[in-house]
Amino acid sequence: MENYIRDIQDFPKPGIGFKDITPLLGSAEAVKECMGLLLSNLKDKNIDKVVGVESRGFFFATLLAYELNAGFVPVRKPNKLPYETISSSYELEYGIDTLEVHIDGIQKGDRVLIHDDVLATGGTAAAVCELVEKLGGVIVQCNFLMQLSFLNGKDKISKYDIYSPLIY
Ligand code: IMP
Repeated sequence: MENYIRDIQDFPKPGIGFKDITPLLGSAEAVKECMGLLLSNLKDKNIDKVVGVESRGFFFATLLAYELNAGFVPVRKPNKLPYETISSSYELEYGIDTLEVHIDGIQKGDRVLIHDDVLATGGTAAAVCELVEKLGGVIVQCNFLMQLSFLNGKDKISKYDIYSPLIY
């Protein structure tokens, strides 16, 4: 599976090493292997909603929702969602970013799985957790295809159950 993750240097900016998941998405075998691992400790967890983070988080989040017989809820960048939203902002190295979710995406008490492709500094995941909890969702697990452990993203969401098949 790790053979399908491609390292791209200086993307999207000079000095950044980017993990590219498109080779993995292009392999049915690798996607199946990932799905098996991502689902391995979610059986019997009664997940109501899988929240996927724009945009690379959408691929596996929708597959996971289907397999778990749960609904899919998109979290998106500002002004992309058509209905009424709530938002959460978080700091980047330079500046601030915002994520939004529809106010009716999650009902109070819904059991929620959050999925994104990569856990890096954890700012994105922490903002998504805040959105889910603002709507009254119960976060059962945050899962990712991979964690970049040297960026310590886990620390920002340490109160939740975190899982990823790949750790760098
Ligand atoms: P964080 O907020 O620093 O944890 O960054 C996580 C977000 O940035 C996720 O939504 C990822 O899609 C994206 N991201 C960060 N680093 C990478 C990478 O190396 N490859 C793909 N996506 C990345």
